[in-house]
Amino acid sequence: MFSRMTNSRLIVITGPSGVGKGCLVSELLRRNNHLWLSVSATTRAPRRGEVDGEHYFFLDREKFSELVKADGFLEWAEFAGNCYGTPREQVNQKLRSGVSVLLEIELEGARQVRKNFPDAFKIFISPPSFEELERRIRGRATDSEEAIQRRLFRAKDEINAQNEFDSVIVNQDLSKAVLELEQKIGLSNSTLND
Ligand code: 5GP
Repeated sequence: MFSRMTNSRLIVITGPSGVGKGCLVSELLRRNNHLWLSVSATTRAPRRGEVDGEHYFFLDREKFSELVKADGFLEWAEFAGNCYGTPREQVNQKLRSGVSVLLEIELEGARQVRKNFPDAFKIFISPPSFEELERRIRGRATDSEEAIQRRLFRAKDEINAQNEFDSVIVNQDLSKAVLELEQKIGLSNSTLND
């Protein structure tokens, strides 16, 4: 989505759990402070170190459903047993004020954005291999075996859908992937040493 008045853009970043989207996005924001990352709502319990309102808005299912009914989400989906959604109003406000917005969301949400905002730029972050993805998910050591299995199962579907995206970046090396991401988004006057 380009805001016609301001040239701000809606940029969607999707990829399987464990692929390193979080690190990539943090690095992208550190290097480009005019971009804004939307804070999602979720019914998932906070992981150690996660702060309400900063990493996510942690909601119970009842509150989440109320927001769905009130059309408060730009998109939302269930993922591995929990609900995740992008609060609509804050994204609209940023776009209206000329700020480009990043959404870091899973496949079903990305599909909803594609339908409702055809001008959004959608990027898929892919792992070097499925084995490497499994190693990264297990290495995180924060999720139960059941949650890990659900995430691996879902990862296969996501990887199979990568052709639906405007661009695919393989996250083998973080700094190279960030540079590639900047080039794809059109922020390409940067170098690896920035
Ligand atoms: P995690 O539980 O690991 O933080 O996130 C699980 C998945 O949910 C990740 O793929 C993440 O990108 C996705 N996700 C986070 N926020 C949202 C959101 O607002 N909407 C959708 N559709 N997916 C989200």
